[in-house]
Amino acid sequence: MSRVLIIEDEKNLARFVELELKHEGYETDVRYDGRNGLEAALDEKESWDVILLDVMLPELNGIDVCRRIRQVSNVPIIMMTARDSVIDRVSGLDHGADDYIVKPFAIEELLARLRALLRRIDIEGEQNMTKQTTVHYRDLVVEKENRIVRRGEEVIELTKREYELLLELMENVNIVLSRDVLLNKVWGYETEVETNVVDVYIRYLRNKLDVPGNESYIQTVRGTGYVMRS
Ligand code: CA
Repeated sequence: MSRVLIIEDEKNLARFVELELKHEGYETDVRYDGRNGLEAALDEKESWDVILLDVMLPELNGIDVCRRIRQVSNVPIIMMTARDSVIDRVSGLDHGADDYIVKPFAIEELLARLRALLRRIDIEGEQNMTKQTTVHYRDLVVEKENRIVRRGEEVIELTKREYELLLELMENVNIVLSRDVLLNKVWGYETEVETNVVDVYIRYLRNKLDVPGNESYIQTVRGTGYVMRS
């Protein structure tokens, strides 16, 4: 069930929208001024699927409420603006609203926009899920999106450099990477770094990743560099 927060100071309109949304199966809550609305929108105990936000509000106007929500949250926002108030619409969208609806509106139009917005969010959510790329090597998994490294179920804490070095090796399985190549890819153009820093970091990685008694994940190729072999 989708949860909608309605921030609207016209009590009759707020009540009407609330009843209609409830009738359509939404869960709703109403706040009658900008300050209380913002508080409810940012309440960590709540999780809103959509915020329906009037522009002209007492205490804090809808544009400011929208802007302040956007500083911390991507929750979908539909602005309700007065007729012909083009400035409201533009600045609402400028400040991060996802859609707007002009008052007075037919409830069917609002419902259609809500459905369209929720559907879009759903699709984007799924796309983000598939964008989450993971790299596997034996029982090691790197989740690139959130930079998590696991060995089996266990999360391995790595520093930024260790992480980048590991990723470089895992993305080039069976390719021997020389110290110079690794330096260039992982350390970039910090020319002052000595090539043996690679050896030092490989040692750090082995200490964190390898299981005593098992073969190391990272093979040393004498005189050349390092490789992970499949
Ligand atoms: Ca108003």
